[in-house]
Amino acid sequence: MQIGIFSRGPSLYSTRRLVEAGEALGHEVEVIDHALCSPSLQGQRSTILHNGNPLELPQVAIPRIGANVTARGVSIIRQLDALGVPHILSAEALLLARDKMSCLQRLAAAEIDVPNTVLCFSTYEAKRAARRMGPFPIVVKLLESTHGVGVALAHNLFQLERLAEGFLQLQDRILLQEYIRESNGADIRALVVGDRIVAAMERRAAPGEFRANMHRGATATAVELSPEDEELVMRTARTIGVEVAGVDLIPSRRGALVMEVNASPGLEGIEGATKVDIAGAIVRYAISKL
Ligand code: ADP
Repeated sequence: MQIGIFSRGPSLYSTRRLVEAGEALGHEVEVIDHALCSPSLQGQRSTILHNGNPLELPQVAIPRIGANVTARGVSIIRQLDALGVPHILSAEALLLARDKMSCLQRLAAAEIDVPNTVLCFSTYEAKRAARRMGPFPIVVKLLESTHGVGVALAHNLFQLERLAEGFLQLQDRILLQEYIRESNGADIRALVVGDRIVAAMERRAAPGEFRANMHRGATATAVELSPEDEELVMRTARTIGVEVAGVDLIPSRRGALVMEVNASPGLEGIEGATKVDIAGAIVRYAISKL
């Protein structure tokens, strides 16, 4: 079988593992740099140009779309749909997962608990919303953030104003979110592949840090999820429409809340912590679509 992994970097851990896993299962695997791919229409005929030439299509595709190329990724996935190439990430699910507010809105509408959150388009609006949200600290987030980079804690109105001003230079809107103090710098990442959770880990933030991102020095250990959390994770994945995803839960006084859904989850931290061959599970799932 020919598998195409749409990824920017053949040397990235997750991409390398998917290649290894595919080859170990006897498939031909090619990494296609989607930053070189242009969806093309000639009359009613769809193609994907790669470096200007028609791309030889794989039999099945595994899109790994980075946060900075979402629009291009969405367009390529839609082209794969038009071309009848099976894959494991719907364009609509990717768009929903990439926008933290849209994702939380969809989850809340499906009666899934999420942290109290306000979407703000100006510093003035953020200050007013913060007064209502109180007490400080309050979490300020960029809508599209990864690795915890666009996530910060404001301890007072002055800091909130500075953060809001700074973030609003980068994007046209920001999120204010209640700070879940009782999480104690820990969260849970569950990895969903198809209709099951293949691995789960608890991430604990580095000392002095509240963000439990591996890129921010967090440590990870394998965990068994409670049946309630398992149900919550699967319901979240189905609600957003992701087939392969990382679902992040944060423990709170009112039970586990869903923090976000990652449609191209990194495999390094979670394979390291759990020793589960997640790349193999993803490849097998992709092949099952044929
Ligand atoms: P990113 O998508 O950049 O990883 P997240 O929204 O997942 O951003 O936040 C990064 C980390 O910051 C989370 O994994 C969690 O540890 C911490 N965090 C985020 N929001 C909150 C919150 N409302 N309360 C407490 N901790 C939070």
